[in-house]
Amino acid sequence: MPHVITEKCLGERYGACIQVCPTEAIHATQHKGQEFSVIDPETCIDCGACVPECPIGAIVPGDDSPEWLKTNADLTPQAKSSPKPAVRPSNDPPRNPKNKLVK
Ligand code: SF4
Repeated sequence: MPHVITEKCLGERYGACIQVCPTEAIHATQHKGQEFSVIDPETCIDCGACVPECPIGAIVPGDDSPEWLKTNADLTPQAKSSPKPAVRPSNDPPRNPKNKLVK
């Protein structure tokens, strides 16, 4: 079961997760008109390396969020060709006031 990126990433996209993934399974994209990233369920090896890299805790095991597992899978084909985005510093305050820094 792959990990997935959830709605907390909408409009945030810190990008450090993309840098550390050993299988390059994470891709930048847009969703609902906002910056987002997705995990390709076909290439994620479920190593968990991306989880501590997300300063707002947006990445969870797929079992915990079936809805976002489907969203990640659906958006992956269009996201695969995206260039790697710039990385936001992990202490950069979240843009969404509902999000909190967790590290
Ligand atoms: S769990 Fe591992 S393989 Fe899957 S997206 Fe995160 S870093 Fe990549």
